[in-house]
Amino acid sequence: MKKAFAATVFLLVVLFALGLHFNATKEREKVRRVPEPYRQIQGSVRDGDTLFAIFKRYKLEPKELFQIKDSSAGIHDLGKLSAGRPYRLTIDDDNQINAFVYEIDDDTLLNVFRSESGFYTEKVPIDYEKCVHHIGGIIRDNLLASIGEDRESALLAMEVSDIFSWDIDFTTDIQNGDTFRIIAEGLYLDGEFKRYGRILAVEFINGGTSYHAYRFEGGGAAGYYDAHGRSVKKAFLKAPLSFKRISSYFSKRRFHPILKTHRPHHGVDYAASHGTPVSATGDGAVTYAGRRGAYGNLVILKHSNGYRTYYGHLSRIAKGIKKGARVNQGQLVGYVGKTGLATGPHLHYEMRAGGRYVNPLSLKQPYGKAVPEERVQEFMDIAGKLNQILASIPVSNHPAHVRRASLAEKGM
Ligand SMILES: [Zn+2]
Repeated sequence: MKKAFAATVFLLVVLFALGLHFNATKEREKVRRVPEPYRQIQGSVRDGDTLFAIFKRYKLEPKELFQIKDSSAGIHDLGKLSAGRPYRLTIDDDNQINAFVYEIDDDTLLNVFRSESGFYTEKVPIDYEKCVHHIGGIIRDNLLASIGEDRESALLAMEVSDIFSWDIDFTTDIQNGDTFRIIAEGLYLDGEFKRYGRILAVEFINGGTSYHAYRFEGGGAAGYYDAHGRSVKKAFLKAPLSFKRISSYFSKRRFHPILKTHRPHHGVDYAASHGTPVSATGDGAVTYAGRRGAYGNLVILKHSNGYRTYYGHLSRIAKGIKKGARVNQGQLVGYVGKTGLATGPHLHYEMRAGGRYVNPLSLKQPYGKAVPEERVQEFMDIAGKLNQILASIPVSNHPAHVRRASLAEKGM
């Protein structure tokens, strides 16, 4: 009996010691585990990718996928991922997700963290480091090719052509040898260039004429103003569509390809693919939308400055474009076609003032709205500084010369 008792005590002592040892090992394990780096998976959403496909690819726990989706409900729909968008998964060595970060768009991150009580999701703006970039170049072929062919340069080229869209038609007006100088924000993350931010100033010299645009917050929304502080926005856009070429100019006497006779052509014909979107060149109201003889499907807009614009041969008139409807500059009115008297798909664009025909290509437009008087000095100071920078940007040959200049000044 005594022996049995002693044996039991011994066994208990041994078990206790073992237990201590076991606990100590576990303790050490825990300590050792913490500093061990988590595994990181970084990637970009592939075409047609779903979160489920990503989880499967990296052999992650589907249960956690549902928890992440649940925690994101109402914040961001993870059922739809955008192709090309980067994501990052942080995973511990039990193959459990610690964090999931997904770039929703250029400005917003979705952060999903593991917390005590499951996953926690938040949407945060991307905190870019801003630098100023100086970009200078000479046109060869077109603006896009001259700035650079990568995605970020292409977006910058589009923005520049948007800024000058009232003055310069980048499909027909630009010539080899034209020069451009751009001051734009460069946005960086962890020291790596991500994309361009706002354009602060642009100079474009087109066929010897120089155009300037300076960004300024002149009474409300920010906009671009010329060297005299007048908005670059004008009553009419240079062209109602992006086209391949002008197939017929405004003329008092031209040979008609179908009628085989000489008659005036009171508009401009823009050759473009069937279905190319056509937009209103100015703010106005629809006075006609429908079939009209040789015009085919026609939209007529009446503008407050007394002008009317005509858009003919449309394959289709856009939804909502009906007599009396208001349209904004740039708004879709229809699509290029060859209805009416037309040999191939093109837009017949016509402009009238009172009873007169006007050649849209030689229209001298009144200047846009000016910077409010009390802020003219402020604008001139900013434009003056930007001019000094512009003047210092070299216009190198192909491709554009890009220089990361400085940290962006706050508020510029
Ligand atoms: Zn025509």
